[in-house]
Amino acid sequence: MSESRETPKSPGPAAAGARKAAIRAAELDAAGPLTTTRERFVLDDTVYLDGNSLGALPRSVPDRIAEVIRHEWGELRIRSWTEAGWWTAPERIGEKIAPLVGAAPGQVVVGDSTSINVFKAVTGGIRMAGKGCTEILVDATTFPTDGYIARSAARMAGLAVRPVEPARIADEVTERTALALVNHVDYRTGELNDMASITAALHSAGTLAVWDLCHSAGALPVALDACGVDLAVGCTYKYLNGGPGSPAYLYVRKSLQERFESPLPGWNSHVDPFGMEPGYTPADGVLRGRVGTPDILSMLALEAALEVWEGVAIEDVRAKSLALTDFFLECVSEYAPPGRVRSVTPYEHRRRGSQVSLACSPGGSSVAAQGGAPVAGEVMAELIRRGVVGDFRPPDVLRFGFTPLYTTFADAERAAWVLGEVLRDQAAAGGDAG
Ligand SMILES: *Cc1c(COP(=O)(O)O)cnc(C)c1O
Repeated sequence: MSESRETPKSPGPAAAGARKAAIRAAELDAAGPLTTTRERFVLDDTVYLDGNSLGALPRSVPDRIAEVIRHEWGELRIRSWTEAGWWTAPERIGEKIAPLVGAAPGQVVVGDSTSINVFKAVTGGIRMAGKGCTEILVDATTFPTDGYIARSAARMAGLAVRPVEPARIADEVTERTALALVNHVDYRTGELNDMASITAALHSAGTLAVWDLCHSAGALPVALDACGVDLAVGCTYKYLNGGPGSPAYLYVRKSLQERFESPLPGWNSHVDPFGMEPGYTPADGVLRGRVGTPDILSMLALEAALEVWEGVAIEDVRAKSLALTDFFLECVSEYAPPGRVRSVTPYEHRRRGSQVSLACSPGGSSVAAQGGAPVAGEVMAELIRRGVVGDFRPPDVLRFGFTPLYTTFADAERAAWVLGEVLRDQAAAGGDAG
């Protein structure tokens, strides 16, 4: 890779710019508060920009899981539910996530998938809403599962669903709206929605605010308590690095917990789970968000993964995330052939999450322009073959996720450089074919 950079095919301003950007990347990587946190992860020479889909493996996880399996499961067996703290893991790990989402203790519980927690939050919210409510609002740009589940929850309660763009929620909410379900960061474009103002607008209409933090928690400061958010959910395998399918979490604001009625009142949320009573009485507090027996192996992997946050200030994570994405955008505009990619991620810092999404249009003579495979999918497949891992979302979006704990400025520069090469090679190949 570095060889091709020393001897570019067509020496010129791009080559000089490239060297300058690589030098700047090295300087930026040597400075700042998060220069050593990368060592807490298992990584290699791959430029890994897909931590917004599956976070890298923290070094603290493998030995801990080996111990859980050999000792806690293998030797203590059933005693581990009490002696190894398995039973209380959902709320204990919830407390470790709480500071990352701006929640005081006693409001976050871990378990089940995000999809299932969306169901708990939306149904629980509908049950708390005023009797006269006829509808819920769902972020029109939402990750699909939230919309599918919200629609089902609304149908069960006899309410309508109205998709609304986050920026329009303040204007569209009415006193008949039970709640609005909003994604904090748009999974496709990386746009950050304004939690404080949208929540305030919902509250002034007497409507509950339900936020999905999948693409924000661990990447930027989240202020659930300060914004007065009512209910929230989020997954832990993206910026929280919990591992494939690691359990999600549910936040229920303290002052609402007494009124929160779970639609999935499993025995783990009973006030006396081992009383084995036929009748259901919910536990106090956020414990009522629990359902059944927790998936202990995934949950304890997540707990070990959360050790990477030791001594890390989320404000530093945010500052580095913005610097990384700024730098990547600069490098892309320097290296990519003009007109081939366009950022659909906002340039304004206050509207940007921790990813850059580039809409990729077909080059004049490319395969796609002639009716072949979708060009952005092809470009991403080639990037991955050349050691730069991002992902592709239909119809034309290349997504590059930046995880400030381990993504380097050198990664950002190399990704942009390889993207430029791929786009030029693809245009040249298309030209040859024609
Ligand atoms: C990643 C993501 C999910 C994933 O849901 P699962 O139940 O874990 O598959 C849901 N919602 C949003 C907004 C996401 O970004």
